Amino acid sequence: MQALIAGGGIAGPVAAMALQQAGIESTIFESHARADGQVGSYFTVTANGLAALDAVGVLDAATGAGFPTKRNALWNEAGRRLATLPLDSTLPGSPSAHTIKRSRLAQLLQDEAVRRGIRIEFGRRLIDATDAGHGRVTATFEDGGEAHGDLLVGADGVHSTVRRIIDPAAPSARYVGLTNFGGFTEDAGRGIEPEAWHLIFGRRAFFGYQATPAGDVVWFVNLPRSKITPEERSATTAAAWKRQLRELFVQDDGPAVELIDAGELELAADNTHDLGHVPTWRRGSMIIIGDAAHAPAPSSGQGASMAIEDAVVLAWALGDEPSIPDAFATYERLRRARVEKIVAWGARGSSHKVPGPFGRIARDVMLRLVFRYLVTEKSLAWMYDYRVGGEEADGREAMTAA
Ligand SMILES: Cc1cc2nc3c(=O)[nH]c(=O)nc-3n(C[C@H](O)[C@H](O)[C@H](O)COP(=O)(O)OP(=O)(O)OC[C@H]3O[C@@H](n4cnc5c(N)ncnc54)[C@H](O)[C@@H]3O)c2cc1C
Repeated sequence: MQALIAGGGIAGPVAAMALQQAGIESTIFESHARADGQVGSYFTVTANGLAALDAVGVLDAATGAGFPTKRNALWNEAGRRLATLPLDSTLPGSPSAHTIKRSRLAQLLQDEAVRRGIRIEFGRRLIDATDAGHGRVTATFEDGGEAHGDLLVGADGVHSTVRRIIDPAAPSARYVGLTNFGGFTEDAGRGIEPEAWHLIFGRRAFFGYQATPAGDVVWFVNLPRSKITPEERSATTAAAWKRQLRELFVQDDGPAVELIDAGELELAADNTHDLGHVPTWRRGSMIIIGDAAHAPAPSSGQGASMAIEDAVVLAWALGDEPSIPDAFATYERLRRARVEKIVAWGARGSSHKVPGPFGRIARDVMLRLVFRYLVTEKSLAWMYDYRVGGEEADGREAMTAA
């Protein structure tokens, strides 16, 4: 069997490696040039996502590219700690969540896939695909070329083309009302509680920062505003963005202004999207996974972990079931409820980032109560304790490392 995979970000290479374990060959078609591991922002992969990386034998490489993050510490604009949210799984022996640069993880997954003999074609944007039935899929690329395979996996992100090919009426990603900026400040980590994202609900914007084991600080700003247009983006320099960002935090307690002033902007003016219920994930021998099928808001901290879980579960189903439609149906049965619950959880987290003064008082009280009594390590176990191939996967045997 030959799989065509559109998208070489996170889900694409993991799917290709998991398919290889299941005895299925694949080629990845990635629209961009090869990833540059130095650019972009960071995300956190929690124990459930790391377990899925372990299933394809890349756990050590992935954690080695990042650093452990055991909790989120929530602060208000006056420097008062509101709550601590554990990020660890309750299962014994589970790895701690790790914060990793997205581009670094994408690059190492691509490199490992290539090392294992998987072909990745860069600079190849899929624009169309047809399914002639009986596993005869033809993908067409912007450069005029074609590729043929038994199935097509759309791992092409939140603005997926494959989603639209499968269902022309498929929903588009929704702008969540927050733009995202990411930065890095060298040698500024002294005195910062380690292994934690510190998340400040500022008066005008949301600020997150974390000290790295090397003593530097990574940070991000989520600013509620209308979508940033391509024109505004290209007309605004990094220095101008930094000036705008520091002004957002001058009235707030915390290190935001110092970190922005001394730091370097690594990601500017990224409009953040989510994608909730996509009614149709599959048609014939074509299917979508990862952000193409369901994108939780960034505040869920689960987008990458979900994409990785999807990739492994799909490959496992294809290796196990007698036909492609059976495998796709199994995949959807195992994934839909979980990912949609996580999208809903992420949407709640984005909605209260910057309230007015009265809203701030109510939010502080609410967050302290919620995180003391409702959102605990135990209550989050459904998210972090999930293991690909575990109980939810119909009682079949757990996948083991490659
Ligand atoms: C600000 C922000 C913060 C985040 N923080 C977290 C976090 O803390 N934890 C977490 O788990 N997740 C986080 N995420 C989400 C995470 O980045 C995504 O969920 C994850 O990268 C999804 O992986 P994917 O492979 O499905 O899609 P992507 O990583 O988007 O990869 C899709 C790939 O497909 C390629 N492509 C697109 N169209 C085509 C085409 N037509 N043909 C060929 N190739 C194509 C793209 O170039 C890209 O390489 C965050 C996201 C954002 C925006």
